Amino acid sequence: MPDGDVTPITPGAGPADLLSLGRRVRHLRQRKGWTLAELGAAVERAPSAISLIENGRREPRLSLLRTLAAVLGVDLADLLDPTPPTRRAALEVAVERAQRGPAYTALGLPPVSLTRRLPTDALEALSALQTALIRRLHEQAATPEEARRANRELRADMRGRDNYYPAIERAAAEVLATVGHTSGPLSHHVVTDIAAHHGFALHHVRDLPQSTRSVTDLRNHRIYLPQSLSPGGRDPRAIVLQALGAVVLGHPEPKSYGDFLRQRIETNYFAAALLLPERAAVELLQRAKNSRDLAVEDLRDAFAVSHEAAAHRFTNLASHHLGIPVHFMRVHENGTLYKAYENDGVNFPTDPTGAVEGQRVCRKWTARAVFAVPNKLATYFQYTDTQRSTFWCAARVEDTADGQFSVTIGAPFVASKWFRGRDTTHRATSTCPDPTCCRRPPAVLADQWSGQAIPSARAHSHLLAALPPGAFPGVDETELYDFLQRHAPAAG
Ligand SMILES: [Zn+2]
Repeated sequence: MPDGDVTPITPGAGPADLLSLGRRVRHLRQRKGWTLAELGAAVERAPSAISLIENGRREPRLSLLRTLAAVLGVDLADLLDPTPPTRRAALEVAVERAQRGPAYTALGLPPVSLTRRLPTDALEALSALQTALIRRLHEQAATPEEARRANRELRADMRGRDNYYPAIERAAAEVLATVGHTSGPLSHHVVTDIAAHHGFALHHVRDLPQSTRSVTDLRNHRIYLPQSLSPGGRDPRAIVLQALGAVVLGHPEPKSYGDFLRQRIETNYFAAALLLPERAAVELLQRAKNSRDLAVEDLRDAFAVSHEAAAHRFTNLASHHLGIPVHFMRVHENGTLYKAYENDGVNFPTDPTGAVEGQRVCRKWTARAVFAVPNKLATYFQYTDTQRSTFWCAARVEDTADGQFSVTIGAPFVASKWFRGRDTTHRATSTCPDPTCCRRPPAVLADQWSGQAIPSARAHSHLLAALPPGAFPGVDETELYDFLQRHAPAAG
């Protein structure tokens, strides 16, 4: 084999290494006072080939590197030293690397030619701008890990304040006072008045960007909304009030994913505090508690909001005003937890990082048992003994474009006495996260089907979910085996 003719410099040497090498070759050549042609002649290569090497566009073979090192009077190791020889060379490498990267390329700007005529201070400024740009792009694209950490921190913060935000309650009360609304359902007309009071006109359009619920134009004081009366099953009043919330609460542009989440929680809270005003809602709840007849349905009906909105609002007020710790869950029919809040010690399923969103809820819990109840119009009540303690829960199923979801409100056993539905006879025991509770398929089925099936998993749509454990991530093995059992041709 010829002297290392096909051996790369270092395994996996990237463009950055080639750029550093090129700058070092150029630095050493210029120190000798040689032209490209003179160095080319010394190593028996064309000047254009040397130029390609100096610009980091060609990877020289080891034999050529040895020759270059010899004629330039340095050791091979010195030639391959990745440290740029001068500040100027370091800047050139950094700028060139950024120019060749995807972030800069995506801007469609012409690359700057890094000749000797380019002043070093211009190079300094260019490099600093590129660094700032790339940092911004990274901040905007949160990794799943960052997203999970932000979610976890936010949930801990909400638990610490019993999910009650006095400043937002005050802001909402002031807004309601300006339009003279105190109780009952907030009409579309009053919502429009509230917007007008803050100088905003509502515009319903057909071509709202697919990825948005609303767009607020701060320059022209307009809020653009979809034309559909109930876009994606959402309360159109809530969409307007959330958009106004960002203005009233003075939200700056979010600087991180955590900021973004916090602002979304706050604007949702603001909208809920307008749709279910604190004073009127607490009066209703206090009366119901006194007669031991608390029910999310009454809150929902008094203010004409969705069951989910009423249940979530209940978590804002129950602990702070009624002294009742609670939990809230929104669970897809496939068992995936989409939204969760607790300050009553219920042990939500978590992944190893402590994230709960995207995890599969115990099959025995009310939030999943409710899907098996034939009467979807009635609220389903259940006491569940868990590893920690017993909880009383009330759940309802709602149809959405993305399938059925259960909305659950729960409280510790001792607090069940305040709720309608406390006399239920439904009881279940959950030993999750013990795998024998519901995660491992029943032995009879497993014996029958283990190793005998290849399901193709549906793409996991939930962004925040880690890959669930199991042989086929995302596939519920009990469900799978049940299915196989049901559809298997009769033996014999
Ligand atoms: Zn379980």
